[in-house]
Amino acid sequence: MRHSTYLEVNLSLLAENVELVKKMAPGSTLLPMVKADAYGNGMIPVSQFLAKECGIEILGCASLGEATKLIHECPDLKTKILVFSDTELQNKEWREVYINGQIIPVLHQTSDLETVLKDPFYAHIPLVIKINSGMNRLGFLQEDLELYLPLLRTRGIKHLMTHFARSSQLLQSGDKTNKQYKNFLELKEFLKNADIQIEATSVSNSGAVEQEFGVSETFVRPGLMLYGPPGVSGESTWKGHQISRWVTKIMSTFKVKKGTPIGYGVNVADRDCLMAVLPIGYGDGFLTYMSGTQININGVKGKIFGRVNMDMTFVQFDLSDEHKIKNNDVVEIWSHDYKTIVDLADQAKTIPYQLMCAVSSRIPRIYKVD
Ligand SMILES: *Cc1c(COP(=O)(O)O)cnc(C)c1O
Repeated sequence: MRHSTYLEVNLSLLAENVELVKKMAPGSTLLPMVKADAYGNGMIPVSQFLAKECGIEILGCASLGEATKLIHECPDLKTKILVFSDTELQNKEWREVYINGQIIPVLHQTSDLETVLKDPFYAHIPLVIKINSGMNRLGFLQEDLELYLPLLRTRGIKHLMTHFARSSQLLQSGDKTNKQYKNFLELKEFLKNADIQIEATSVSNSGAVEQEFGVSETFVRPGLMLYGPPGVSGESTWKGHQISRWVTKIMSTFKVKKGTPIGYGVNVADRDCLMAVLPIGYGDGFLTYMSGTQININGVKGKIFGRVNMDMTFVQFDLSDEHKIKNNDVVEIWSHDYKTIVDLADQAKTIPYQLMCAVSSRIPRIYKVD
């Protein structure tokens, strides 16, 4: 645990992002993804806020364990919870949790479909079915479903969905996203023609929502953009805010002469400079790929020097900046302006998703409502 190093999560900004998304998808119902601890922002407070303050009625997790944790820690949560990938449907130990219908598995492979269609234990589970329209990770092709048409006809499909592989790129006619959507619509048509009722549909993750693509389906399923970063990489028009700000401080500073070895290993100061030590390291989720990136402290650019340690990190400054960098100064690793996390992710050759998910349990989450 830490004290003056923390992740401040502003839930009012989450509410603003929700409103922006609703405006981009006015005919659609919002199904926020809260998997991976709501992208590092804290699944429990985020889900409770979404349900109580934003009128959300359905949430998305990745694993059954996330869904059961949500229910155990929020017994008064009324939302439905979809489990998108790791449903544990073949794990009999957990099958009871699906019975009351609050937690619903997304079916994405034949073995699970077979179980839910044929085992009387699952006779009342709504069928939520993921189509593989071209991402080729999970989901059914038409030929997989053809074997089950009579059973699907009896049962009806509650929710038919697919997932886009490249919606973070600007849409162009005939591109991968358009092809995936076309495949999805064709398979939907095929099922309808086979007299199978389909109650609801969804296709859009953040990149698609931002481009208002697929937003006429029943649901949209954004994760990333609700927490701040844009769904489209490069030039984005997203008006949302990063709901978190990652705050630390300068724990110590010292001047070093060119040639001085600093910290573990063989990292040697390449010039006379000022070093600041931050109490944040890979044990906090400030991972070693941050080495060499530039961060802004008090308007001065410093460079993450050497390898990030488990508990601390060096930042190198010019000696001329000495008067601007003081012990106990507040440092924002990223701010509520999403450009700061996008820039950091670009420098580290990773994605904002990963920076947010990495923030470890040693970092307290502090919740704020304006
Ligand atoms: C994670 C996920 C989403 C959300 O994706 P973002 O890019 O974070 O908006 C939507 N649908 C499915 C199936 C997912 O797994």
